[in-house]
Amino acid sequence: MKDNYSKYINVILPIPVDAPLIYKLPENSDIPQKGCRVLVPLKGRKIPAVGISFGLSDPKIINNISQGIEIKTLYNIIDDKPIIPISFVDFIEWASKYYCHPLGMVFEEALPSDVFSSTKKAIDKIIKSFEKNKEKKDITPDFIKWIENPPLLTDEQKICLEKVDQTLSKKKFSPFLLFGVTGSGKTEVYINAVKRCIETKKNALVMVPEIAMTSQIVSRFMNRFNNVAVFHSGLTNPQKLSSWNNARKGNTSIVIGTRSSIFTPMQNIGLIIVDEEHDPSYKQDHGFRYNARDLAIVRAQKENATVILGSATPSISSNYNVLVGKYSLISLTKRIGKGGFPSVTIVDKKNISEKNDTLPYWLNQTTYDSINETLENKEQVLIFLNKRGFATYIFCEDCGFVFTCSNCSVTYTWHKSINKKIKNIETEGVLRCHYCGDEKPSLPLCPRCKSLTIKSTGYGTERIMMELTGIFPKAIIDRLDRDVITSKNRLENVLDKFRNKETDILIGTQMVTKGHDFPNLTLVCILMADFSFNLPEFNASEKAFQLISQVSGRSGRGEKPGKVIIQTYNPNNQVINFAINQNYNDFYNFEITKRKKYGYPPFEKILLILFSGKSEPAVKKIALDSLIEIEKIKKMDIFNDSMTLFGPSPSPINRIDNRFRWQIMIKVMSNNLFLRSLDMIYPKISKFKKGSVRVEFDIDPVSML
Ligand code: ADP
Ligand code: ZN
Ligand code: ZN
Repeated sequence: MKDNYSKYINVILPIPVDAPLIYKLPENSDIPQKGCRVLVPLKGRKIPAVGISFGLSDPKIINNISQGIEIKTLYNIIDDKPIIPISFVDFIEWASKYYCHPLGMVFEEALPSDVFSSTKKAIDKIIKSFEKNKEKKDITPDFIKWIENPPLLTDEQKICLEKVDQTLSKKKFSPFLLFGVTGSGKTEVYINAVKRCIETKKNALVMVPEIAMTSQIVSRFMNRFNNVAVFHSGLTNPQKLSSWNNARKGNTSIVIGTRSSIFTPMQNIGLIIVDEEHDPSYKQDHGFRYNARDLAIVRAQKENATVILGSATPSISSNYNVLVGKYSLISLTKRIGKGGFPSVTIVDKKNISEKNDTLPYWLNQTTYDSINETLENKEQVLIFLNKRGFATYIFCEDCGFVFTCSNCSVTYTWHKSINKKIKNIETEGVLRCHYCGDEKPSLPLCPRCKSLTIKSTGYGTERIMMELTGIFPKAIIDRLDRDVITSKNRLENVLDKFRNKETDILIGTQMVTKGHDFPNLTLVCILMADFSFNLPEFNASEKAFQLISQVSGRSGRGEKPGKVIIQTYNPNNQVINFAINQNYNDFYNFEITKRKKYGYPPFEKILLILFSGKSEPAVKKIALDSLIEIEKIKKMDIFNDSMTLFGPSPSPINRIDNRFRWQIMIKVMSNNLFLRSLDMIYPKISKFKKGSVRVEFDIDPVSML
């Protein structure tokens, strides 16, 4: 289509502005289709910028702005065909609007970085990738590998699959919650559902929460299918681009990945699977704060696809959606292994008979005995504690000085075995801040009174590892937490050794809770079950229930029966008891009653606005100015008392990395009104984004700290 008078197009650039920029098309230029890249001049940049065409601009807008501002002319159009399918562009647009995050920034996050590179090489590479392999391969049964003895499905698995199968051929949005206890064969259901999806000549996307989990599930898929593409944050840029291109062109029909894989531009999606759908890591906790589990539902809706959310501990919101008829429930109630469910013992840490002076205070008598017995039986032990480091609280016994991070309002954690040079001081052990990463040498001296009586309390995985080595000298002990896992190889190494029974005891944080299947693991010890109940978050009990159930679920997955020991100061705590009795339904009823009473999700929707900056008065001022704007909106007739405001108030962790943090929480009673309120609040508050105070929107927050 050619035209010789001026035309203007909207262009999305990877910069934090909310509206597309407008450019004039050169005379006689084609009009680039929505989704094609264009090369444009950008203020403040010497080299041209790559943007994405978003179609012709509205002439009314052009009239309005053409008075004052000079509209620049586009240099050229890079692609003659859109580089991403139009349905995918719509999806990104939806995500940007819902999560109140600038469209250009969402595109930048969703696409490989090479797409926006204006070097000739990068541009050519993507253009070439179009020319090569232009023909889209048909999805063929070749993608399915033939294996000799696929496991015979259990009756429960068959019923789940039949229900899923009925929807796969219909091309209709069909959401399922697969509620399957730990070790019940959910992954086998996923594999078979994907197989059927491919047989209907459609593509499948499988999401898993974290890289720690991908290796096992990926190898299970690779054993059964050809052409599986894997997406995770550990890929290099060229790897990312190549997988992205393959998915875009239909050369892979199965994608497995972590949360960002929801942005794979596959076409013709028939099935999306979200494994461990309750996992908080589906929610990105910075910048573009999307929830990939929720986006999976939205994407499936737009693609008329089937979606399976799977979990042994479904999120409160997904189970609620089953009960109100939005999702269909499929369930697996029995474990595959002959071992059955593990037996659970609660150890009351207040009980005198549990104390033994020859043991450290974090290890009670019953726990010690069970570890001993398990090792004697040549079986394996998993010890869970969600604290890293050696000690989490360091103080001076003489003057009471507490070693706190100078950038954050949190205490330092002592990492005793890390030896390094900090500011030219050789140090044995460092004090590390787990929020900003600041490190200090751990000197044996109080900085305030110069006393030498520095004490530490609070134990972390490093200390457990060290002390356990003394208690069980013959056992081979390993550790899995973010301090020791510095690469994907290191992670796989630790997991492989444990799986191959080279390790007797594995100590770890959250990382050990996820999806692993170790058949010889028969004892799981939770050293401190009291951890997160008292956090100021509406979903603290939900997180605790999931964690305790998931860790316990690692025990006894093979032929031998498993055991779980839970040490706690609150043996009567209801949530702990629901978790150990595998009593999901009672837990759900307990929790949903609370949510209803206090007006929390799923009954009300939450928007958290986060303000942060180096000067606390400045942060507070912007928060208060924002409140005035929000209050005006709240008073509007349409909201009619359905909106509640909290704050502004300092965030529970008031300072991180030298930035003071304040927040406003807004609760809205209905989904529709919530969307309307975002439409109004976001533009009003965006104007405060310009200064030194950072203003961020967190829609449907999962963490309130
Ligand atoms: P989940 O994902 O529910 O925790 P898995 O899918 O990992 O459970 O299954 C647990 C174990 O049982 C795995 O070792 C798996 O290979 C095996 N398994 C699953 N389904 C069957 C089946 N129908 N027959 C035999 N073994 C099975
Ligand atoms: Zn002191
Ligand atoms: Zn810090």
